[in-house]
Amino acid sequence: MNLKKKFLSAVTAATLVVSFIFGTPVAQASLIGTAIGIGTTLAEGAAMRKQVKEIIKKFNETPEGQEALYQNFREKQGVDTTPEYNERLDIIMANLTRGVAAVDPSIKDKPYKYFVADNDALNAACAMGHVMMVNRGTFKALPSEDEIAAIVGHEMGHGQLNHGVKSLEKQVNQRITSGLVGAAIGGGAITSLIADVALNNMDAHKDKKFETQADLISIDYLVNTPYNIGATAAVMQRFVELSIGKERSRLTAIFKPSDHPDSAKRRDAAAKKLFEYSGKHVEVKNGVVSVNKKTFMKPVASSTMSGAERSYFVMGNLARAFHDGQNKNEATVVNGTVMLGNQEIVTPLEGDEDAQVIADRLNSLK
Ligand SMILES: [Zn+2]
Repeated sequence: MNLKKKFLSAVTAATLVVSFIFGTPVAQASLIGTAIGIGTTLAEGAAMRKQVKEIIKKFNETPEGQEALYQNFREKQGVDTTPEYNERLDIIMANLTRGVAAVDPSIKDKPYKYFVADNDALNAACAMGHVMMVNRGTFKALPSEDEIAAIVGHEMGHGQLNHGVKSLEKQVNQRITSGLVGAAIGGGAITSLIADVALNNMDAHKDKKFETQADLISIDYLVNTPYNIGATAAVMQRFVELSIGKERSRLTAIFKPSDHPDSAKRRDAAAKKLFEYSGKHVEVKNGVVSVNKKTFMKPVASSTMSGAERSYFVMGNLARAFHDGQNKNEATVVNGTVMLGNQEIVTPLEGDEDAQVIADRLNSLK
């Protein structure tokens, strides 16, 4: 087989494999075996493993593989073409691509392909090859672009850290070494193995270590964007609240609090990173923002978020201000917004203290 033909064959096979990520028909299972050329004997287990690895590599490292994956996902998931959501995602991706590039220039050689998926669940996913989708439900559920950016940044963290491939290969190898392939004399069983592994890979987010890594690195990306660096902790606070409220059913897979009782831990890990970023000047606990260990303010709830969620936005602004040395300047009030130097800190809402009172307190604490 010539190289081009061989590659096309691999891409076809790979596309079929990946379709199982989204739980598509069993009818395709036999096609996978045929397309990859999997034999039916135990001796060929190692060859199958090698071939799967090659296909993964093509997906992950070539523009053709990326394109095949992208088209496959669009077809399987459905595409939402609502201009509002698509334009917003374009802006977020442009901002975050610059944010990632500031700390990881490799993104320039491997830009993301993305789309808005036709799905109302609050969810997003990044596969190997830097192919990403953000559900329509994410745009509907989250009130601020900062929080959507936090989620997209988290996905790009998985992408930059190559998590999709790591978990896929790991799971394939686990299955093979556990002897399941040895028992699988028929090609059908082997294709089932591949399908299982691909399906499980969709749940790469279940790996707690990867989750925290993606959360924390996303803050490094947000630092280099116009977004609030507290948005990661804020969105985790929202998931904590959704998990104990009646809106729980709106969350699925990736961020589902029922699967992730550790949303609070992830929130706290993000907040700890902000604390460090601020030079250990700024903290949040139970909705109270502290500066230099003293109470600064306890934001009230807005029409779209709780006071606790809002507190992480205040924290994000303060952390940026302290990190950038803005605390050497006076806190002032400009058009109703408390500023520290040229950094916005908070715009008080009805029920919050007066802006000048907050600014005066900040001057006494900073
Ligand atoms: Zn994740």
